Amino acid sequence: MHKQPLVRLGLLAGRVRCFSLWLLMVSLGCQAYETPQRVLFGGDAEFPPLEWTEKNQAKGFNVELAREVARVGGSKAEHQLGNWPDMMRALEEGRIDVMPMYYSAERAKRFIFTHAYYYPSHSIYALPGAVRVSSVDDLRGHKVAVEQESFAHQQLRISSVQPELVVVPNTVSAIEALQQGKAEYAVLTSLAVEKLLSQNDWPLERMGAPFWSRGYAFAVNKNKPELAEWLQDSLSETIASGRYQQLYEKWLPELEPSAANNSLIKSLWLGLLVAAVFLLIGVGWYWSIRRTVALHTRELRDALTQREMADHELRYLANFDAQTGLAKLQYFIEKADDYFHSHQQPVKQEKEILIVKLVDLDVIVRTFGFSRAELVVNAFASHLVKLPDAMAAYLGRGVFAIFTNKCNAQVLLDHLMTDMSNSDPGLNSQFVGGSAYWPEHGRSAGKLMRHAETAMAMSVARRRRWMAYETAMEPSRLDLDIISIFIDGNVQGIFPVFQPQLDLRTGKITSAEILVRWQHPRLGFIPPNVFIPLLENSGLIEQVTAQMIDEAVRVAVLLRKRNLPCAISVNIAAYDLIETNLGEIINQALVRYQGLASDIKLELTETSVASDPQRVKQILLELSELGVYASVDDFGTGYSSLSYLSLFPIRELKIDRTFVSDMIGNPRNHSIVRSTILMARELCLTTVAEGVEDDQTLQLLKKDGCDLAQGYVIAKPMPEVEFIEFMRAHAAQVFDVSQFMKR
Ligand code: C2E
Ligand code: CA
Ligand code: CA
Repeated sequence: MHKQPLVRLGLLAGRVRCFSLWLLMVSLGCQAYETPQRVLFGGDAEFPPLEWTEKNQAKGFNVELAREVARVGGSKAEHQLGNWPDMMRALEEGRIDVMPMYYSAERAKRFIFTHAYYYPSHSIYALPGAVRVSSVDDLRGHKVAVEQESFAHQQLRISSVQPELVVVPNTVSAIEALQQGKAEYAVLTSLAVEKLLSQNDWPLERMGAPFWSRGYAFAVNKNKPELAEWLQDSLSETIASGRYQQLYEKWLPELEPSAANNSLIKSLWLGLLVAAVFLLIGVGWYWSIRRTVALHTRELRDALTQREMADHELRYLANFDAQTGLAKLQYFIEKADDYFHSHQQPVKQEKEILIVKLVDLDVIVRTFGFSRAELVVNAFASHLVKLPDAMAAYLGRGVFAIFTNKCNAQVLLDHLMTDMSNSDPGLNSQFVGGSAYWPEHGRSAGKLMRHAETAMAMSVARRRRWMAYETAMEPSRLDLDIISIFIDGNVQGIFPVFQPQLDLRTGKITSAEILVRWQHPRLGFIPPNVFIPLLENSGLIEQVTAQMIDEAVRVAVLLRKRNLPCAISVNIAAYDLIETNLGEIINQALVRYQGLASDIKLELTETSVASDPQRVKQILLELSELGVYASVDDFGTGYSSLSYLSLFPIRELKIDRTFVSDMIGNPRNHSIVRSTILMARELCLTTVAEGVEDDQTLQLLKKDGCDLAQGYVIAKPMPEVEFIEFMRAHAAQVFDVSQFMKR
């Protein structure tokens, strides 16, 4: 029995492509974002203390934070401050990269936001003597100044209050509009107004308590997702390292609304004192004082409620993911561990950690963009939130964790799949899962998460919907042996086998697939499904590919010289396409054996085509100019649509054997096969059905218009000598498919 492949190691190693196993293990989890040399931040030129221009210099809390975040990320921040609406346009058009602003759902459609780092609020301002208003609802029918493109502008535009908006370019102009009588009230960020009031002698009053305490975050131009990712990382690091706290403390006197609260409290007490004195002087003042006290008390209460809400929002943001509303990893682990600690003895209810991954999310990003991927993630998260007796976390990049009672996870995933397709038919995604059980597989959440991840990776490798963790899934001795043999370069016992393909239109055999076999002197026979994924993921597959290309050309030339023309398909891994000089390897083999480009074909999987679409397209174009054509292997198991694939220079589709092998007994699979054949024909692509195991399937494929068939019913893969003999024996004859079967 062969042990399982080193899935987890392999997957991670795939990211870094290093050739040393140990280096490869150390490099787990490395992610390379290109650090920008400089980042251009925008902002409002008159928005103190957050940002303002003084003697041509950008100043303010936001400015210093941006500089710090850029520095932490290894880059440099430059600033360009100006009129807010102009700056919004500049950000949208990509003339600046980043701009701090209030987060809102509407803005999130136009920009990519980092997490919020600060929570300022808004207030209503007016000249002394204006009719007192205490909330936005009181503004109905009044002239209200707002900054163009500001959060307040946006909110008031969509609110049902519908004041008459006086739209101005910045905070100072809003104050001027009040002074010139163009507006009765202004809704502005309290912080900026308080600061401006302290610097200028403007008679302006705040009405009521602050409201709309909203997260302030960095907004990044929509076309710069990698910059956004880098910025988020640097911001998180700035916060984690304590630098944010230091900056915040430095700016505290200007930022902290408690100062305002204090003055509110002081004025309340003053009010009370005065009230007491006045009360003593004359009862006539009683009602007016009572009203003042009530007003201040309400303001104070509102301010406290606001503060509590902001605290609550902060706590929520620390523990829950802003995009999905699900728990963050740390919180999830804490909660699961809390449960484990308090329910250890005796264990009455076994628990399960299930990790689910939207496996095609990367492809969705590359094909349809980030916003579509975000919609898919959110749609999936919305179903996880509804799971009874469960807690779900979003771990990023399309990976979710669910903590629940031990259950039948297959059924759970089926339910999720059905719910997804019922509620969001346009946002379907393929997902796989892996589970680990408490206490069977571990007593801590961290350990169970690791095991569930291993099980999930194994599901991906084995193309299963879900698997539960087993110790046999851990990296085995055999996996390590295989990798070190290939690293040493001392590989013995590799040889090719050939599997013919029957042309269903002519009954002739004019093509075949070359498949690798490995009979190692010490380790014995190792199936390709065991060693190929390991080699692919650790950047060692090139040796095998080069050898198979060489053998394919040699045997195809040999057959052609014997008047038995047969194009031989070689399996090409994503690594071969992207990291090696494939054209040169093919060219060398063609020169060595005087081969023709038509002697070989390349089989690529959908995933490798989509892994780096621009580069793959270019390589395939170069090869097709040489005359070497490509086919898409295992079609139907990935995410790509036929129309997407048709953007690449490919000639052939190999319909995956999972659909072909039971198309007789499974009408859904049959209709997938049939529609693939029809669509491929529209796009002038040849179709190959693989895994044809019986006569009836072969007949049905011919009837459905499939061009070629490959499978045990025609012949199993065989060594060179046998294959040449097979080709000779069948060369002269032209088979009717049914006769072929009776041979
Ligand atoms: P694949 O490219 O899909 O290759 C077809 C696999 O299906 C082969 O398994 C073949 O033996 C098997 N097969 C053919 N007809 C039938 C059938 O009628 N029924 C069933 N059940 N199976 C059938 P094999 O040789 O074990 O290869 C497995 C996988 O290993 C291949 O899948 C391919 O992904 C990979 N592989 C094999 N050789 C190479 C190689 O030289 N280079 C690379 N990169 N991958 C290879
Ligand atoms: Ca293949
Ligand atoms: Ca295949």
